[in-house]
Amino acid sequence: MVDTTFTKSLCPLCGGSDHRAVSTTGQFGIPAHVVVCVGCGSSFLNPRWTKERYDRFYSSEYDTYYRPEVSQNDDRYKFVPASRIVARLQPHGLLRPFQRVLDLGSGMGHALTYL
Ligand SMILES: [Zn+2]
Repeated sequence: MVDTTFTKSLCPLCGGSDHRAVSTTGQFGIPAHVVVCVGCGSSFLNPRWTKERYDRFYSSEYDTYYRPEVSQNDDRYKFVPASRIVARLQPHGLLRPFQRVLDLGSGMGHALTYL
């Protein structure tokens, strides 16, 4: 049976069709066919999920993986990502006293609350 959740594509940057496979599994074991374009060096997913599969993932699965505090209504997970960021920066002296924070892609804002 053909897996219809994936669709093949050309390189979104140069349109090339010559790609080298790098990985077939992404974070959390989710299938992610990472390739590098031989023509321009861009990396992208190919084959990638179909639009329908992306829609299903973001509407019913995304929170399970990336926002467990939302999907499980469990506050224990709220500050884990922010605490990891602090743990990475602190040993290098990169956390100095501050009054303002800019959090790009802030999700639910838990990192801002944590900081
Ligand atoms: Zn390319």
